[in-house]
Amino acid sequence: MDIVDKYYSELKAAVDTAFSPDEAAIIEKAFQFALVSHGEQLRKSGEPYIIHPIAVAKILIGFGMDCQSVVSALLHDVVEDTPVTSEEVRRLFGADVQHLVDGVTKLGKVPLANKEEQQAENLRKLLLAMSEDIRVIIIKLADRLHNMRTLQYVHEQKRRDISKETIEIYAPIAHRLGIRPVKEELEDLAISFLDPVAYKEIEDALADQEPLRKEFLENIKDKIATRIKTVVSDATVQGRIKSVHGIYRKMYMQGRSFEEIYDIYAVRIIVDTVGDCYNCLGVIHDMYKPLQGRFKDYISTPKPNMYQSLHTTLIGKEGIPFEVQIRTEEMHKTAEYGIAAHWKYKLGYKDKEADKKLEKGIGWVKHLLEAQSEADDATDILNTIKHDFVSDEVFVFTPKGDVIALPVGATVIDFAYAIHSAVGNKMTGAKVDKRIVQLNYVVKTGEIIEILTSSQPGKGPSRDWLNIVTTNEARTKIRNWFKKERREENIEEGKAQYEAQLRRNNMTLTDEQEEQLLTVIIEKQKMATVDDFFAALGYGGIVLSKIMPMLRDEYNKIVKAANDTAVKYKQAKTVSSEGVVVEGITNCLIKLSRCCNPIPGDDIIGFITRGHGVSVHKKDCPNVPDDIYNAPEAHRWIKVYWNSTVKTEFAASMLLTCLAGKTIMNDIFTALNAIHVTVQSINTRGTKDGRVLINLTINANSVEHLKSVMQRLGKLSGVLSVDRSGMDI
Ligand code: MN
Repeated sequence: MDIVDKYYSELKAAVDTAFSPDEAAIIEKAFQFALVSHGEQLRKSGEPYIIHPIAVAKILIGFGMDCQSVVSALLHDVVEDTPVTSEEVRRLFGADVQHLVDGVTKLGKVPLANKEEQQAENLRKLLLAMSEDIRVIIIKLADRLHNMRTLQYVHEQKRRDISKETIEIYAPIAHRLGIRPVKEELEDLAISFLDPVAYKEIEDALADQEPLRKEFLENIKDKIATRIKTVVSDATVQGRIKSVHGIYRKMYMQGRSFEEIYDIYAVRIIVDTVGDCYNCLGVIHDMYKPLQGRFKDYISTPKPNMYQSLHTTLIGKEGIPFEVQIRTEEMHKTAEYGIAAHWKYKLGYKDKEADKKLEKGIGWVKHLLEAQSEADDATDILNTIKHDFVSDEVFVFTPKGDVIALPVGATVIDFAYAIHSAVGNKMTGAKVDKRIVQLNYVVKTGEIIEILTSSQPGKGPSRDWLNIVTTNEARTKIRNWFKKERREENIEEGKAQYEAQLRRNNMTLTDEQEEQLLTVIIEKQKMATVDDFFAALGYGGIVLSKIMPMLRDEYNKIVKAANDTAVKYKQAKTVSSEGVVVEGITNCLIKLSRCCNPIPGDDIIGFITRGHGVSVHKKDCPNVPDDIYNAPEAHRWIKVYWNSTVKTEFAASMLLTCLAGKTIMNDIFTALNAIHVTVQSINTRGTKDGRVLINLTINANSVEHLKSVMQRLGKLSGVLSVDRSGMDI
């Protein structure tokens, strides 16, 4: 047990300096409880499991977190990994600790469709817990940090999965919370596992320049410190190197060479007051030549994660660019501990200012949960973090001067939705710096944006906007609007999408099979009705291309079953609504083929199609092989005959060849009227040799009936010939 003793004595030392004896006793109790609960469990490294909670607790003390956080850190895995229940945790350590531990405990095995959904659900739960108590996420980040530090022990695939999740989700959250060192360490560790070669390259490049850099930085630091003393009494000057991941991003995502990255070297100046910050800036710009366009004032315009500092890039004597960051002590704490710093202040003084900052710092969590709560797809929240959080940001202003942060590439519509869904939904246009712009206008840092709205009822976003917006937040809100406001339209739109997709994939179904298919689909999509499903397609809650593989599977199953049935029941007979009897098949759809339009009395034959029942042709139809017994698909041709009792009307087509004349159409209609024939359609076309071809479709109830109509028309003076024929003229 000495490794545990070693770890614990380190923690104990930290606890004794940070906490009162009473608090230290509670932490001790939590440690003993966790030690017993985890028992013989081992980590992948082979070390006793308890090492992990101890390490997490220690990280939290480093952040300056409170006693309950440290206790929860020690207990954070007992509910998930040991028989201990959440109720027991409450009894022994109180409701606050119970909530913290529950917050970081993953959801049990919820039956969800895939890994991504599982991940999204867990994340949603975490964000919910964190919106109630921000300490949850800070404990979770410390947990993740220690897991990443010891990730070399887990096997390759899991290592990659965890690294990916870390860089896509946890690092962005740490960034949003302003906990810079955690964000950077998580990213660097993830890159070292995901792209070890590139990581090594950057590390080597940095190591190569190490002696040079040291000298360079020391030199600049000295010079700056000396000059600054003349204007500012109490300043600390530090040197710092950009994180590996920061360099990696610029090299591999922005395509710059190592030499082209200006801020690998940075000098940080920490002073007492905001006034001193600007004084220092003046001195620095006097000492070195500033690079154009690289000055940023995050003091007057803090980043959304509350980060404040002045940034400027300068050219040193040797031509090497370097960045200088200037900030106060308090700003520095915020930069290092982010939300954790404010949370700590809040405990200490309970002051309103810290409260407000804390509220602002986690406002985005509530925002995110609100936007997500109405979306069906839990993965939306995941996408928002993955895409909206990691991009570089632009800062733009409302006419009132409030700053809004958006990912680079965001449009005025994204801006409108970032303010409020109601603003986006009523948007009719936008003004940037007082000039009207198009809706796809991409906003740039510093612009003042005014959204023009209409309060006219029924006004709403356009579906086209979904192709314009770049933030997930706007996309989700637009979809939500369509979901709520335009149900009928959505159903129609969704139905059209669905039908077009089936057509595109040559999937044809009988009405019955269609119903069968939709029943399976709505069940799989957890929808109550088919309309709900179509509506979801319509507003984009379900993406058709995503469910296509499933749909195709089900389709194949249904069609295959139908074809099997067709072969199996050889003895059965069926009479369809078309009045056709099919030998050997029950309950199947019968369609009179459009190529030859058979009507009762015609000699007919059936063909078993894939997916839409039996199509009935006239025996002399050109599409029927002369010798069906030796045709390529002989087994699909089956005997069918007319049911004598059925008397229905059929559409029958004929082609009339006539001499062009003023009265010919009138003559034809007069004749048809006289014998009470209903005309379904009539198409005419003139030919070059002065004739008129008329394709006439009428309702007939038998071959005899049709023949008599044809005879009658054939007797008209302008009619040269009358033929049973196809539809095309
Ligand atoms: Mn853990």
